[in-house]
Amino acid sequence: MPRIALFPGSFDPFTNGHLDIVWRGVKLFDEVVVAIGTNSSKQRYLPVEQMVALIAGLFEDEPRVSVRTFKGLTAEFAREVGASYLLRGLRTSPDFEYEKPIAYGNQLVNVDLETVFLLTSPALSAVSSTIIRDIHRFGGNVDALVPFPLPPPAR
Ligand code: ADP
Repeated sequence: MPRIALFPGSFDPFTNGHLDIVWRGVKLFDEVVVAIGTNSSKQRYLPVEQMVALIAGLFEDEPRVSVRTFKGLTAEFAREVGASYLLRGLRTSPDFEYEKPIAYGNQLVNVDLETVFLLTSPALSAVSSTIIRDIHRFGGNVDALVPFPLPPPAR
């Protein structure tokens, strides 16, 4: 049985911090599925189809990484793709406090699912999608924070 990890998130946008987690996940698991959740009622900064294509482009030579979108419960989607592990990144203590009830909730939905936390590489601990959106929205340069040129936001 391949060891499959689901790496769920909003990825709006996908950042160098996320990329770091994926590459480190690939060392631990046979496959990593980057899963963009689309149930949120809040509007995305960049369209999900655009983000899927950009992320997939990063991994076109790495068949062990795939990109999917999903609606509904993360733990159910993990079951659907055969993932026994949920991969999440931790930057700060508030990240941990935020993640803890989510991990417990996911385990209630799917007892076979183990959440695995990787500590952010120190140089990337200040990288967040929120900061990137805030800079990019006003025309600032975010090239050092993202693994691909970011398209302009839809108006
Ligand atoms: P969510 O909306 O589910 O928090 P995000 O797209 O913001 O989704 O993040 C997805 C995952 O990536 C989360 O586990 C988050 O903690 C982690 N993450 C975010 N930024 C970084 C970073 N700079 N380094 C490592 N992990 C990160």
